[in-house]
Amino acid sequence: MKIAILTGGVGGSRFLCGLVEAVDPAGVTAIVNVGDDLEILGLSVSPDLDSVLYALAGLGDEERGWGRAEETWNAIETVESLGGEAWFRLGDRDLGLQLVRTQARRAGQPLSAVTARLTAALGVEATILPASDEPLGTWLDTPNGSFPFQEWFVSRRHRDPVDRVRFEGAASTRPAPGVLDALHEAELILIAPSNPFVSIGPILAVERIRSALERRRVPCVAVSPLIAGRAVKGPAAEMLQRLQGGTTAAHLAQCYPGLIDVLVIDEADAADADAVSTLGVRPIVAPTLMRDAPARRRLAEAALDAVALA
Ligand code: GDP
Ligand code: CA
Repeated sequence: MKIAILTGGVGGSRFLCGLVEAVDPAGVTAIVNVGDDLEILGLSVSPDLDSVLYALAGLGDEERGWGRAEETWNAIETVESLGGEAWFRLGDRDLGLQLVRTQARRAGQPLSAVTARLTAALGVEATILPASDEPLGTWLDTPNGSFPFQEWFVSRRHRDPVDRVRFEGAASTRPAPGVLDALHEAELILIAPSNPFVSIGPILAVERIRSALERRRVPCVAVSPLIAGRAVKGPAAEMLQRLQGGTTAAHLAQCYPGLIDVLVIDEADAADADAVSTLGVRPIVAPTLMRDAPARRRLAEAALDAVALA
C-alpha cells in the first residue's frame, strides 16, 4: 500500500515507527518539515529529518525523542568550554552525520539527494523526503519580538506566547523532487501527531503541497498530538489555545480546513467527537499514547482502519 505522511520530529517519528511495523515500509513516503533547519557551528542541521531518519533506522533515543541513543556529548562540551555556540545540543554520534551532510551540501548536493544517501546508508526502507530543497524558515512573532524557530524553541524554551507563525520564503518555495509524485500516487495520506503550527504548518506553507492535498482523491487521516487537550510534549496546546481559541479536538481539526477526512483522537477526548463530526471530519477514538512499540503499532493500525471503515 502506498502511503504519504506529513510529519515533524518527535511525535511524527514515534508514529512512523508504528506505521512501518503495520505496513510494508517500501510503500511509505515521509514528507518532513524543514522549517526548523538551521546553520550552527558551520553545520547544516535538519532536526526533523534526523529524528525521522534515526527513528526509522532504529538509532533514535526513544526517551528524549530526538538525537541518537547511547549518545555522548564531548564535542559540544568542548564547544561550551571554549565559549562557542553550545545552546543547540549536538551529540558526538550525531555530529558525524552533520559533517557528512554539511560537506555534501557545500558541494552543491540538494537536501533531498543527501537525505536519500543517508537513508540508504542507514538501511531505512521507507522513503524520507524534505518538504522542500529550498530554505523555508519558520519564524515566531511574539510580544517579546520575532525569533527564528530554534531560538524560540530551544534557546528561549518556547516560553514566549506566539501571536503568529511565519514561513520565510514559503510563497515561492517548491516541493522537493518526489513529494508531489508521492502525494499523487498515495492510496492514503496521513498527517502525523505532530505540532500543527510549527511542524505540519511549514509543509502546508508550500503552495503546491497544500493544493495537492486540497485536490486529493484519497482519504487524508490526521492523528491528534493532544491527549485530554494537552500536548504529550512541547508547545502545541499553548499555541492552539492562543491561535485557535481552545485545545479541543475540534480546535485541532480546524488547523486543517478542507485537508482532512478523518481525525484520530484520544479516548480522553472522546467527548469532542461530535464537535469534530460537525466540521465534516470523521472522528476515530483510540488510545493515542505511544509509550512503547506495541502502542505505536496499534495507533498506526487505528489510523489505517479508519480508511478501511470509510
Ligand atoms: P518536533 O518537530 O520534534 O516538535 O515533533 P512533532 O511536531 O512531530 O511532535 C510534537 C508533538 O508530538 C507534540 O505536540 C506531542 O504532543 C506529540 N506527541 C509526542 N508523543 C506522542 C504520543 O505518544 N501520542 C500522541 N498522540 N502525540 C504525541
Ligand atoms: Ca521540529
